Amino acid sequence: GHDHRLARIASSIRVIPDFPKPGIMFQDITTLLLDTKAFKDTIDMFVERYRDKNISVVAGVEARGFIFGPPIALAIGAKFVPLRKPKKLPGEVISEEYSLEYGTDKMEMHVGAVEAGERALVIDDLIATGGTLAAAIKLLERVGVEVVECACVIELPELKGRERLGDKPLFVLVSAV
Ligand code: AMP
Repeated sequence: GHDHRLARIASSIRVIPDFPKPGIMFQDITTLLLDTKAFKDTIDMFVERYRDKNISVVAGVEARGFIFGPPIALAIGAKFVPLRKPKKLPGEVISEEYSLEYGTDKMEMHVGAVEAGERALVIDDLIATGGTLAAAIKLLERVGVEVVECACVIELPELKGRERLGDKPLFVLVSAV
């Protein structure tokens, strides 16, 4: 059942304290990728949720959204669109600036990758403050795409990232502290 799968997924994630800087408990999903059952269960659980939702775009956030997004996109018959850090995409881009703890960052998407009226799922490995997913939602909505839901493997609920997404639904597999 689901609980069994979720327990295995949760225990396959390695937590590394003080990475990349003191005070951060880094949730390392590379160990989940080494557990073939946990990795498959992760993808399966997202596919089961999204296969009948008429989603034409899976938008993955750099970098770990590029790991989980494509297998989901293939399984549900959607295209995959990478949302990238600045100056990585070679074509014409639209970009969205967002604030970090110190300073700002930017997220870019190729113009023409999506059309107005498409239905998108946004995927990343983890939601912390929610700033990254909020920027992804804005970027897609600016070009007329309907963001159906955001999905992450891990949520850090203490940081209340969900609140930054407004009324946009967020689906997560694992809550961490
Ligand atoms: P945020 O915009 O604050 O929700 O941060 C989410 C982004 O930062 C995601 O792309 C995550 O991969 C990364 N991130 C933030 N905090 C952590 C953490 N504790 N462990 C691993 N990745 C993190």
